[in-house]
Amino acid sequence: MAKIGFIGVGNMGGPMARNLIKAGHEVVAFDLSEAALAAVEAAGGTRVAKAVDAAKGVGTVVTMLPQGKHVRAVYLGDQGILGVAEPDTLFIDCSTIDVATAREVVAEAVKQGHAMVDAPVSGGVGGAEAATLTFMVGGETAAFERARPYLERMGKKIVHAGGAGNGQVAKICNNMILGISMIGVSEAFVLAEKLGLDAQTFFDISSAASGQCWAMTSYCPVPGPVPASPANRGYQPGFSADNMLKDLRLSQEAAATAASATPLGEAAARLYEQYVGKDGAGTDFSGIVRMIRGE
Ligand code: NAD
Repeated sequence: MAKIGFIGVGNMGGPMARNLIKAGHEVVAFDLSEAALAAVEAAGGTRVAKAVDAAKGVGTVVTMLPQGKHVRAVYLGDQGILGVAEPDTLFIDCSTIDVATAREVVAEAVKQGHAMVDAPVSGGVGGAEAATLTFMVGGETAAFERARPYLERMGKKIVHAGGAGNGQVAKICNNMILGISMIGVSEAFVLAEKLGLDAQTFFDISSAASGQCWAMTSYCPVPGPVPASPANRGYQPGFSADNMLKDLRLSQEAAATAASATPLGEAAARLYEQYVGKDGAGTDFSGIVRMIRGE
């Protein structure tokens, strides 16, 4: 079994690290949060006092951090983990971050004689706990194959999306579809309701017709038709509107660098910005239906 450094053991990284421990690996964790570290320790991991200490003397390092600026700070520069790791360490960054930073950090890792993949996830905290995450992985094939056995302990579906940064590309393009489709579904349910068609009847028709999509059938934004959807528990996340806004912003940053027109992605980012600024922060992203209804 391997000795693995794990940096960023929050809502997602915590349960992911626990699944590696359950699989028999030795996990050395670092986080800025005392509570997050205590939880890993309680699960059988070891804590260290600095990020660099989680990267010394281990063959593999996993990171699960909030944003590109955190990933950059942890990996690069004088205090960065790339500089202290053993030659040919494998780095797996599971954070959802901007494509440009992901590509830059992987290139730097490779330049310094290491292997690295970007491996953002979908599946949320429930998927992290149950080890059923989907990993979208970018990087060289050899690095992907080295990462696969660890990813399989934390997830169910592991997909190689191509070269460095392509994991992030897959993640933000997928979530751009999700943000746009949630707004579309919300507009349709509100319009149907205002025209006198009740939500359940509309759901029964549209979920079996060409309007069918995941935002409707798994995360239906109105209470009733899909009992497990966040709409039935006051829009508690689930997938938070804040995280949706973050991912839509990443898609817009990437679209600008690629000169790719994404008018609906742009509109979705604007609407989620409005919703989070209003009263949507901390709610599930399907709660945007309330703003569309004019509540
Ligand atoms: P989180 O805030 O719960 O966890 C992030 C952890 O990183 C925190 O414990 C924080 O203390 C730690 N951290 C921040 N800066 C650090 C540093 N410099 N050194 C060490 N630790 C540091 O966030 P999360 O929900 O676990 O999300 C992590 C990543 O996963 C994000 O990029 C997010 O977009 C992505 N993601 C989240 C979900 C979800 O449902 N929560 C789903 C898919 C992807």
